[in-house]
Amino acid sequence: MNQLTPEKIDLLGLSQAQMTSVLAGYGEKPYRAAQVMKWLHHRSVMKIDDMTDISKKLRTEFEAGAEIHEPEVLSEKVSRDGTRKWLMRSRSGSAIETVFIPEGNRGTLCVSSQVGCILDCKFCSTGKQGFNSNLTAGEIVGQLRMAERRLRAEFEDRNRVVTNVVLMGMGEPLLNIDQVIPAVSVMMDDLGYGISKRKVTISTAGVVPGILRLKETTDASLAISLHAPNDALRDQLVPINRKYPIAMLLDACRDYAENLGEKRTITIEYTLLDGVNDQAEQVRELAVLLKNFPCKINLIPFNPYPGTTFKRPSAASVRYFQDYLVGKGFSTMVRTTRGDDIDAACGQLAGQVVDRTSRSARYQRIALQAAAE
Ligand code: SAH
Repeated sequence: MNQLTPEKIDLLGLSQAQMTSVLAGYGEKPYRAAQVMKWLHHRSVMKIDDMTDISKKLRTEFEAGAEIHEPEVLSEKVSRDGTRKWLMRSRSGSAIETVFIPEGNRGTLCVSSQVGCILDCKFCSTGKQGFNSNLTAGEIVGQLRMAERRLRAEFEDRNRVVTNVVLMGMGEPLLNIDQVIPAVSVMMDDLGYGISKRKVTISTAGVVPGILRLKETTDASLAISLHAPNDALRDQLVPINRKYPIAMLLDACRDYAENLGEKRTITIEYTLLDGVNDQAEQVRELAVLLKNFPCKINLIPFNPYPGTTFKRPSAASVRYFQDYLVGKGFSTMVRTTRGDDIDAACGQLAGQVVDRTSRSARYQRIALQAAAE
């Protein structure tokens, strides 16, 4: 392939501002952006030519320089509890995963931002696979578009099936921030998916410069994967802590929340690992650490996967942890395990493989196996 050939414009990943400026380049007026975005995100057109009220001239120009690329679904698995997991093919040819979790009137879509992950958090199966590639903004939005379209028929009584989006699938969103920012903008835009800023959550293991940049560019909700009450333990579990320690991380988050105003809080994710970070002294330390920090806490009992040495704590110790925090005045939820019969629970995405050597070959294999199933 000629490397000098510019890639086509990925229409699904353009924020409204970007769409307006692309269209200005074609000599089109700003109102055209609304028209094109509605075709892409409300009516889910697959082909540029299907945008029938757009001039033939623009459609022809789009055909030459732009594309609608929604990642192809390779497989779909439905859990006993209604959770659904799709394996999709990314542009790089590798497999990514998207999970839909229905809960009453709520439907949460857990979206991937990268293929694999570089951060190597010790208990995460995605981390075990190393990093493969970044997703494009269009591939991130494409996961939502695919889910909405596929689920709409089934939930036809609702005007919206996906009510919440969390960037908690594979990857570290803030290490792919240039693609994540326009993607969340489309998710929150009424011309896109119109999901409230409170219900689109970007989750990070603690990439502090990314949080500082988010502050300038979005008002989406923020979650951080804390997992430990002190640097000594967090350095072990979440190695990026050695670069951006807890105090620095919490400062950046406090700043982010203050900037949002409206009493917005940060979600603290804390995966409970038996005998590692679930002890009485650790919950005491956590309560002191988070005193006066504007947050709600999500406890995630560890989800095991083949090859891991970590264990899920007993229900009693999860309960103790929660009760202690609630007693100290923290809003604290235990995230119930969903979809673990289809390996769709937190940290189980693209699991099963522990070899770190031939990454892309391995992802190809996962994709091909799934396609053959
Ligand atoms: N990289 C981002 C997005 C991943 S989100 C981040 O770290 O926030 C997925 C959440 O599930 C993170 O809090 C992650 O630490 C947690 N997690 C990963 N593996 C897990 C496992 N096996 N069991 C429970 N939680 C896990």
